[in-house]
Amino acid sequence: MRKPELLAPAGDREKLKTAVLYGADAVYLGARDFSLRERAKNFAADELPEAVSFAHAHGVKLYLTVNVYPHEEHLPALRELLAAAAAAGVDAFIIADAGVFRLAKEIAPQVARHISTQASSTNSEAARFWQEQGAARVILGREVSLADCAKIAAQTTAELEIFVHGAMCMAYSGRCLLSSFLTGRSANLGDCAQPCRWQYQLVEERRPGAPLPLEEDRWGSYILNSKDLCLIELLPEILAAGISSLKIEGRMKSAYYVANVTRIYRRALDACWRAFERAEVKTAAGCRQYYAFDPDWTAELQKVSHRQYCTGFALRPPGPGDYVYDSSYSFRGYDFAAVALGYDQKLRRLHIEQRNHLALGDTVEILLPEGDVRPLSIRAIWREDGEPAAALPHAMEHAWLACDEAVPAGCIIRRPVREEGGAADV
Ligand code: SF4
Repeated sequence: MRKPELLAPAGDREKLKTAVLYGADAVYLGARDFSLRERAKNFAADELPEAVSFAHAHGVKLYLTVNVYPHEEHLPALRELLAAAAAAGVDAFIIADAGVFRLAKEIAPQVARHISTQASSTNSEAARFWQEQGAARVILGREVSLADCAKIAAQTTAELEIFVHGAMCMAYSGRCLLSSFLTGRSANLGDCAQPCRWQYQLVEERRPGAPLPLEEDRWGSYILNSKDLCLIELLPEILAAGISSLKIEGRMKSAYYVANVTRIYRRALDACWRAFERAEVKTAAGCRQYYAFDPDWTAELQKVSHRQYCTGFALRPPGPGDYVYDSSYSFRGYDFAAVALGYDQKLRRLHIEQRNHLALGDTVEILLPEGDVRPLSIRAIWREDGEPAAALPHAMEHAWLACDEAVPAGCIIRRPVREEGGAADV
């Protein structure tokens, strides 16, 4: 048994660097037009060499998501993308469609092929089938229980990957036409408008202008709105099941989200693996004898944008308690405040790129990749030109903060949310 990798999302260059800094073993990213996150910034084909070089320079693998279900018109560009990505040195393609799988083998036989969760592999025969076709890894459907993961792992030597954290679908992992029918945006081409999260009303056919309220609360009703997945408390079971890769969902989420979720799963996985190695019997119970779950990990995962958490299908099929009927909003306790650009040891000033309003007197928190969260009271601000300032109201502004201790470049800085309540995903 090998230690599973921690696989984090990299929706753009900043998130790639963040995922690497905060401890990912591997990252996955999409190419513009060919991954199932059309509205994430993603990477152009000519940006892939730099992304691969950066990841490899830090000992991190890079997987390219190509899990669309393409139509004939998409094939020429897809061929070009696969060739360009192979030349850039990506470690694997994440593929859902049998045609893309075949094309990838023809164009880039040296690149490993991982079967996307979009292929809905939910049993050992499916995993063996894909392995026989040449797949190195099968990303199991989110609909597979941990007990079945263990049975599948026992019957195949292909690597298995599962999602451990993030949003879930009401359909078989995105194989859903709700968005296509209601908005013309196809979930199967990476452009889901998430109508399962919308608020719905009932309309009588002959009275189109008089909707009948269907209310869970004063905001509306959310009949298709699933909770988010969080399996951090089940790491011993996941290790015992023989899973090779633990994937964090969220290429559309902010760099702060990527930083904190990756940081927490890194710590939890390292602690759990140490315990698993020590355990005489390699079971979840054996592992738990040497493993102390830190409640701070759960508390930290509450501080990123999320809906209520559940364990998805891991322990049992979801029931009524696994849907969020009262709100389609995400909640978070903290805003993404700034990114550290560097530290001036002589002046004891932290150079930042700001992402949210900051002012004198605010207390922010710096997420240190190797350590804890370090608070920083803002007692002095200077603009880029050296002029003192009382506040930084403009997004993306570069500035300096008084700071007595060094902070590595790339560190994410957060600030408690000023006004509580719902917030859109960031
Ligand atoms: S509409 Fe909802 S269930 Fe359907 S693919 Fe999009 S996120 Fe998934």
